[in-house]
Amino acid sequence: MLRESLLKSMQALEERGLNRGTSGNASVRQKNNFLVTPSGIAVKDMTTSQMVEMDMQGAVIRTGKPSSEWRFHRDIYLARPEVNAVIHTHSMFATTLACLQKEIPPFHYMIAIAGGSNIRCSKYQLFGTQALSNAAILALKDRRACLLANHGMIAIGPDLAQAMDIAFEVEGLCEQYWRALQIGTPENLTLDEMDEVFEQFKGYGNWDQ
Ligand code: 13P
Ligand code: ZN
Repeated sequence: MLRESLLKSMQALEERGLNRGTSGNASVRQKNNFLVTPSGIAVKDMTTSQMVEMDMQGAVIRTGKPSSEWRFHRDIYLARPEVNAVIHTHSMFATTLACLQKEIPPFHYMIAIAGGSNIRCSKYQLFGTQALSNAAILALKDRRACLLANHGMIAIGPDLAQAMDIAFEVEGLCEQYWRALQIGTPENLTLDEMDEVFEQFKGYGNWDQ
């Protein structure tokens, strides 16, 4: 069941243009362990049986070669008990902005869905390393998404559906920010205005969870 949902999430990311080829990966918490997508396999060739079950020490419980980024998936589950799904993309606009190594400011009120008044960009670190995981954990503090410098983005949520929604929304925000930057300097909302947004979001959909 979770294996199917994980594969469907990867397929949806590809269909909606957020990932292509072997880029990106995803995971979902399964009791005390987690299931993560296999490494280096294009989504079109990915099957449910290739999803790799790992424990929180990073040992493979059920066969396969886990995503090279299993460390940040594991470390997010360890650091964030409320998180049950992690999505990683190399989507066009988030990645374009991540290449500037700059955070996304509150240029639009929907920035709030990432959990705060900005979306941070982690320090650059080599893919597949513990250093990248450490940088990601810092950038995700009190947030549901972050950019990874010169790499892509991570979105997290209480389940796969909500983590996916955040990934799609963050990619849309990054496109809007990129577009606004083409024609001028976006006016950012103030922290007081963002506080009002958080108040207004209380009880609106799932976003205040
Ligand atoms: P994997 O195929 O090992 O998951 O790697 C893809 C990726 O995005 C690395 O950052
Ligand atoms: Zn990546």
